[in-house]
Parts: sequence; structure tokens; C-alpha cells
Amino acid sequence: MNLDNDSDFTVNTPVPDAIERSLRPQSLNDFVGQTKAKERLDVMIQSARKRDDSLDHVLLSGPPGLGKTTLAHILANSMDVNIKLTSGPALEKAGDLAGLLTSLEKGDLLFIDEIHRLNKTIEEYLYPAMEDFRLDIIIDQGPNARSVTLNLPSFTLVGATTRPGILSAPLRSRFGINNRLEYYEGTDLETIVMRSARLLSLDMNPEAAHEIALRSRGTPRIANNLLRWVRDYATVKTDGKVTRATADNALMMLDIDQYGLNEMDKRLLSILVEKFNGGPVGLNSLAVAAGEDAVTIEEVHEPFLIMEGYLQRTQQGRVALPLTYKRFGLEPPNQQDHLL
Ligand code: ADP
Repeated sequence: MNLDNDSDFTVNTPVPDAIERSLRPQSLNDFVGQTKAKERLDVMIQSARKRDDSLDHVLLSGPPGLGKTTLAHILANSMDVNIKLTSGPALEKAGDLAGLLTSLEKGDLLFIDEIHRLNKTIEEYLYPAMEDFRLDIIIDQGPNARSVTLNLPSFTLVGATTRPGILSAPLRSRFGINNRLEYYEGTDLETIVMRSARLLSLDMNPEAAHEIALRSRGTPRIANNLLRWVRDYATVKTDGKVTRATADNALMMLDIDQYGLNEMDKRLLSILVEKFNGGPVGLNSLAVAAGEDAVTIEEVHEPFLIMEGYLQRTQQGRVALPLTYKRFGLEPPNQQDHLL
């Protein structure tokens, strides 16, 4: 593990490894938190089962690592159907989509991650597929071009997106409801950490779980990644039992402070305050100064910093809030005119 690169603990992991898969809850009962989304999905499952029909299409949105893929698997388990997984950028040609859709059986789930990154042509093929379970494809070119209609089994599309705001209106309207996943409360994260520790046969006390939860940025994937690091640390440096002190020492080695801020968060905030006088500064300038990709800043770092009250997005650009100054032991400027 490379300790210089904290992205292991913060950024979306597109391909889950065997341990990550083994920690995935298999049913809604095991899925901690997100009460609202869970209740709605439970109603949809029960209704579909009573009607003996396939599940309606489902849109899941929210930052990476909050459980969208996990919920898609749970939906498939609850309906007793198969699930096929793909992502927006992976579907390049109409043939890719046609191949997937025609391999589905009645009631099966098709999970499209990052659905906001589907290209326009593929998106348009999806509309009749979602509405009428029909795929109109054009074969051949020029004067020989003709449209062929394929009938599809009634399947369920589960779309996941970190950016529901940029989803096109026609696509959004083809989903019933948008299930927005929220960052997790500390107590829910503690429950998730204790559950994962049990599955990993780790002897850990609740105080240690509390320390890990504090630094997990409201995100189960980060909580599980930190837990695995703490386990490695405890295995090498102690008798294997995880106490609060062990967890603290292990997490200190990763440079994640007790507020959950990692190196990149701290760098962004200090650049904002020191180089740009607290802003407003445009995202691209911030990205260049921090040496980080603008999309990663926007999708991975900023949601947490905004939620915690460190910075604000305004029309003019990013602006540091008083909490940022407090963390750096600085006096906030008196007049934050740009916020008025
Ligand atoms: P996303 O698809 O939103 O990026 P995932 O579904 O891949 O997130 O979740 C990442 C990991 O976090 C999963 O492996 C799972 O173990 C864990 N996880 C997510 N949500 C929960 C939850 N509500 N309860 C327990 N574990 C969870």
C-alpha cells in the first residue's frame, strides 16, 4: 500500500476486490442507514412481487461509495433475478447496448453506473427500451439502411449517478423517482464498521469503530478501507486486537485528521485561503494550483467540504467559509462581501 497516495482511501474504486464484495450487505435489512431510500425501494419491491411484475426502473444518485451498486445488487436479490453491470462510458456503440439488453431475461436488472456519461446516441436507444421494451436499431448504411425492431423482455434499468443535475431531462423523466443517497451519520458509520469488523473476524471495540467513523467523510467505502488499514496495522504492530489507541495510531500514519480531512482537502483549503485570499476563485484555477483534476475536486473533495461548511460554491467561484480559517488557526476576514 502506498501511503503517499491517499486516493486509496478517498476516491471511488471502480472495480471492487473480493473483500469489498464480501462486505456488501445482501439485503435491505443489512443495509445500514438511508432510511428514506430504503423504505421507498422496499415498497417498490413488495409491489412488484405482489403484481408478479418486474421492478420499475430505479435511479440512484449520490457521491461515490455511498452504496448505489450495493443497492442494485440488493434489488436483484430481493426480486430473485440476475443482474448485469455496465457503465455509461463503457457503452460506446449501439451494438454494446443491444448485446446487453438482448441477453437479459424477464425481470432481470441492468445496472448502468455513471449513467450521466452515456453518449447521446445510446441514450436515445434507451428511451423505447425503457418505455416499451423495444429496441429500434438501424442496420447497414446508405440506401440499404433499414430499421429493425427487437422486442425485449421486461427488464429493470437501475441507473446510478454522482451528478443527477447533468442528467438529461428526457432520461430523468423515464425513471419513476430519484433515490438520493445522503452522507451517513456517525452512528450509522460506526454500525457499518462494527459489522465489517465482525465479517473480517476482527477483535475491535466500539471506541475504535468511533475513531474510524469520525474520519470516514460520511462514506461507507472509506470506512471499510480505513478499517482494512487499521486491521493491517494492528496485525503488524500489536497483538491484533483493535483498541481506540491502535486505531488512532494507525490513522495518524495516513495523515487523516480527526475531522476527516485528508491531505488533498487540506491542500485545497490552504490554497484557497493563502493563494486566493479566501476566494472567490474559479474551479479550474484551484485545480491547477492544487495539481488535481477539476472533476475529482468537484465530485470527490468538494461535496464533503461543502457539507461540513468549509467552502461554498458561488456564481463567482469557490469561497472559503469561517470554519476553514478556524482549522488553520487564522482570523476570518470581517467582510465576506462576496457572500452577500
Ligand atoms: P457506490 O456504488 O455508491 O459507489 P458501493 O455500493 O460500491 O458504492 O459501496 C461501497 C462499499 O461500501 C460496499 O462494498 C459496501 O460494503 C459498503 N456499503 C455501502 N453502503 C453500505 C451500507 N448502507 N451498509 C453497509 N455497508 C455499505
